[in-house]
Formats: sequence, C-alpha cells, structure tokens
Amino acid sequence: MIGQINKMNHAAIKKLVIFLVLCPVLLFSCVFSGGCTTRADGKDVNIVATVFPAYDIIRELTAGIPEFSIRLLLRPGTESHTYDPSVNDAVAISECDLLVYAGGDADTWVGKFLSSGVSDQGRSFELMSAVNEKLMIEGEDEEDPHVWTDPQNVILIASALREKLLSVVGGKGLGNAVSDKIIANSDRFIGELEALDNEFASLSARISAEKRLLAFGDRFPFRYFCKRYGFSACAVFPGCAEESEPAASDVKKVIDAIRENELDTVFYVELSSHRIADAIAAETGCKTACLHSCHNLSKEDFDAGETYLSLMRRNLETLSRLAVKD
Ligand SMILES: [Zn+2]
Repeated sequence: MIGQINKMNHAAIKKLVIFLVLCPVLLFSCVFSGGCTTRADGKDVNIVATVFPAYDIIRELTAGIPEFSIRLLLRPGTESHTYDPSVNDAVAISECDLLVYAGGDADTWVGKFLSSGVSDQGRSFELMSAVNEKLMIEGEDEEDPHVWTDPQNVILIASALREKLLSVVGGKGLGNAVSDKIIANSDRFIGELEALDNEFASLSARISAEKRLLAFGDRFPFRYFCKRYGFSACAVFPGCAEESEPAASDVKKVIDAIRENELDTVFYVELSSHRIADAIAAETGCKTACLHSCHNLSKEDFDAGETYLSLMRRNLETLSRLAVKD
C-alpha cells in the first residue's frame, strides 16, 4: 500500500515537474508568436540589454536622443550568471527593436529568447561577436565572456553597435539628425575609451614586472584585461560563474603566490562578500581591494549614475597603488 502511494506520488510529482518546466516555455512561445504590435513606452526605438556593459555602451551611443529607450534586464545588485528572467522580461524582449546581450556564460539565461527567433530577425547583438580574439577559461573548455574588461574590445563593440543602431534608425525612417547624433556619440565614447586604454597601458609600464601579478581571493573575470595590459593573475576560481567553496589547494596556490612574490594586495570583485579574500588577507597580512569587472553593479552605484568608464577609472585608481612611486 505504502509502495503504491509512493509510486503514485512519484508519478504526480513527475507530471508537476514537467508542467512547471514547460509552462514558461509555452508562455514565451505564445508571447513571441504574438508578434510586436504595442510599444511599452511610446518611444520610437526600444532596446533591451541583458547585462550592465551592454546597457551602458548603448546608453553612451544613444545619449541625448529621446527616440531611444533602453531597458536593463539584470537588475543592479543581482547575481549575473544565474539570473532568472521574469515574464515581463520575456514581453520586453518580444517587443524590442534590438536585444543586446553579452554571450557565453555571462547571460546564458537569455538563450531561450534567442531560440525564439529574435536573432533570426536580426534583432539581436552579441558583445562577444564583435571581438577579434576570444580567450578560453583554463580547464573549462569554455570561452570567457567578459570581453569588455579590455577597453580595446569595447572600442570594437561600440563601432559594431553603432552600425547596428544606424541600420535600426534607417529601418525606422528616423532621419539624419538621429544618425548624426549616434555617430557623434560614438566618436566621443571611443575617444574616451582610447584615453582610458592609454592610461592603463602607461600605468602598467610603471608597475614592476614582479608586481604585475594580481592575486584574486574571488572569481576571475579579468582575463581580457590582464592579457591587454601585461598582468598575470592567480585566482581561487578559474572563471566568474562559481558560487561554491573553492578547493583548498586553489586557496593555497593564491596564498603561496602572495608570499613568494611579496604582494601586498589580494583582490575581490564587485558584489562579492569578499569572505575568501578577507581570509587570505588575514593569513598573509596583505590588504584587500575591489577590482570592478563591470559585469553588474550595486544599486547605489547604478542610482549614482556610474558608468563603464567611471568604474574602470576606479580600477585605474586602485591599481595605481601598485605602481613605482616617482
Ligand atoms: Zn561575470
């Protein structure tokens, strides 16, 4: 009898699980097949960005153009890699003129929307696709999606996105004034990115070779940044998506690197509890500091109007402590 009940419960639970899994998929299918007839806010061009770097680059390119509205799906302060999109997010994507997303495991949660046809209709743009060289995450056989940590990659992305925006504007018949503003914005933004790139390069040249090793008691989203500016790195996690405890051997590797190279800082990333970095600092006597990957930002930073450029300038300031004093 008990066995029978258990068997029935098991079957009922299985049905419930299938229902719960399929329900959102069916809902998304309905939304997408319904097409896009209404505008969320009456703007001429609605853009949806999955993560902060995508949002911020679009914000720079469309600054001062009232015909554009941009919606950031990943709310500030939310964990980037495991975000669970809402039904409202699905509706926003179904109605948008352009979906801008990072690619790779930075926003895998957007995958089900892409397979719904947004990409087939040319209404999507992947940041990773604009970059020449993709770097692999060691031991994971996967490309690192944090391409934006290298400002030179952001220049490539901004140039490609400008062309995409110009074609959207052309398709909407918005006129030359809007196109001219996008071109002027992108020229200004790329100029600022070039200045940032020069400042990182000259800072790196002022840091001695042995101090150009960055120790992370945290996730590691800075592979592109390190490669560009000649830093090497050791981190307790190889990538950015891990949430579990690091292996004791990986923590030891970072501690050993700090001691052997007499490093005085162990880094953590934004929105981290920096528990592991704190423990490593206590063990080695070094300081902790935050390097901002710009993958996501706190609500306070978002509300204060921080941008990719301002957050990267914060990193410039943080790393300048490693430079040889004149
Ligand atoms: Zn990340």
